Amino acid sequence: MRYISTRGGIQPISFKDAVMMGLASDGGLLLPQSYPTISREQLEGWRSLSYPELAFEVISRYVDDIPAAELKDIIDRSYATFSHPQVTPVVKQDGLYILELFHGVTLAFKDVALQFLGNLFEYILVERNQKLNIIGATSGDTGSAAIHGVRGKKGISIFILHPHGKTSAVQALQMTTVTDANVHNIAVHGTFDDCQDMVKALFGDLEFKEKYSLGAVNSINWARVLAQVAYYFFAWLRVTDSGEQTVSFSVPTGNFGDIFAGYVAKRMGLPIDKLLLATNENNILTRFINQGDYSLGEVVATVSPSMDIQIASNFERYLFHLFGDNPERLKNAFVELKEQGRISCHENEMAQVRRDFCSASVNQAETIATIRDFHAQTGYLLDPHTAVGVKAALDLLAADSARVCLATAHPAKFGETVEKALGTPVPLPESVLELKGKPTRCEIMAADLEKVREFVVAQVG
Ligand SMILES: *Cc1c(COP(=O)(O)O)cnc(C)c1O
Repeated sequence: MRYISTRGGIQPISFKDAVMMGLASDGGLLLPQSYPTISREQLEGWRSLSYPELAFEVISRYVDDIPAAELKDIIDRSYATFSHPQVTPVVKQDGLYILELFHGVTLAFKDVALQFLGNLFEYILVERNQKLNIIGATSGDTGSAAIHGVRGKKGISIFILHPHGKTSAVQALQMTTVTDANVHNIAVHGTFDDCQDMVKALFGDLEFKEKYSLGAVNSINWARVLAQVAYYFFAWLRVTDSGEQTVSFSVPTGNFGDIFAGYVAKRMGLPIDKLLLATNENNILTRFINQGDYSLGEVVATVSPSMDIQIASNFERYLFHLFGDNPERLKNAFVELKEQGRISCHENEMAQVRRDFCSASVNQAETIATIRDFHAQTGYLLDPHTAVGVKAALDLLAADSARVCLATAHPAKFGETVEKALGTPVPLPESVLELKGKPTRCEIMAADLEKVREFVVAQVG
């Protein structure tokens, strides 16, 4: 399998090169040249597979430059870190199926992709005798999952900037209690935007970027999307095991990575009935799907902060397919977005969008009410991101199809909001309680680019 760019500016490259490239060098996103298809018969044959075995079946169809035994080992090690024997179990609550994606080390679904990506990076770097220095800014979720994905790995150092005192308590603990020599937490006296601006400035300094082999872990890496495709297959198999005939998925969406993985699963032949894209008040994608209106608004801070995004970076991958895999049409659309703040689509394109997705936007009051009501009816705790998807599923998906809601974070990770909804504190899981009192390591710094640069240089040596 070879990989191409949505902007059409690179020659096809191998899987390993696609992983190391991250963002395509022409500014586009990387995609496989085609999607392998899985027949119904093959799918039926996968019912008895464990999660890692199934993930291998899905992932290996996109990888032809890593020997099967090595790829299997990478996948096995990635999912051995999950605390549930089924890795991503499906539970039934009050007529809905909840796909629990939060049994990884940082209690959010990003672990599914970042455990895999960390092991992949290490494998490729060791093989190529190269080094990678990952630098990123986080408001909490991605940074902690990335740190845990690469801690102790050969060839990699990671520097994660977070706004000092502005992440949740659980998120700060998950980052700063990692004291491996290759992990560098930087707490900045400033905002998340200050952190992000400094990271952008470091990447913008091409000489520095080259000299210190800087890399990113943002959600546009193809390997992250690929790892997520596996759980759509896993969930479909579990739900149909229990006798359901048709299956729909509701996906709380921010950067469009998770739901794009569902779209890929569908393209591979997984019989998904509806893919429901759920947003919070940052609802540009819902407006687009329902009204054809892709115009940028201001980012609103909500109780589901990992979905507080206006420009969903992975959406470019879908647009490329929507535009008939035509890079010129895609580039024109982005020029229009830059110049006029919007993208317009033809009627036939919008008809296709509505065949691919349905969508609903859920506001904060509805999110909190959903956490409360669902708990009252079932005793089950939803985190605010998951609650957005559950509310959208209850409103939009008919009950004659099995409704699978992706649970993207453990309720304790966003305990403040869940407590607000219920009036009682959320019990912390064992893995979080263990972090309290552990030694921590974190560099506290002014929001000063030169200080950050000096620190990176001193550590990398
Ligand atoms: C990142 C994240 C999301 C959004 O996922 P995308 O792939 O960016 O659409 C939803 N919920 C939680 C808890 C997240 O961390």
